[in-house]
Amino acid sequence: MTRILYIIGVVTIVIGLIIGVLSGSVLGFILSIVGSFVSAVIFLALGLILEKQDTILDMLQSLEEKSKPRLEKITCKKCEKPYTTDYSACPHCAYKPGLYIKCLKCDKKYTSDYSACPHCAYRPK
Ligand SMILES: [Zn+2]
Ligand SMILES: [Zn+2]
Repeated sequence: MTRILYIIGVVTIVIGLIIGVLSGSVLGFILSIVGSFVSAVIFLALGLILEKQDTILDMLQSLEEKSKPRLEKITCKKCEKPYTTDYSACPHCAYKPGLYIKCLKCDKKYTSDYSACPHCAYRPK
């Protein structure tokens, strides 16, 4: 697709040159060259944009990922594997922990299976 646009751009310049030569006058020659160059630049720019489209999409995607809030990780009490708090049960062993408690000291989440915060060892009273 992008290659076609590059070819069209080059062909436009060539056609412009031919028309310019055929027109016989200096003004017609200059005008056709300028016109063909302008249209060729448009085609080439379009080709470049299409070529860069994938890169731009990738960049946007990585930006989106960066802006996403990072999920907090908790450790399964049964199999001791880490998983994120968006799971209601452990994805490794299907162990369903109790209620989530937000630590008053470090603001991280942990389940009521722990009597103290596993992140900072804070023990709620
Ligand atoms: Zn588990
Ligand atoms: Zn804590």
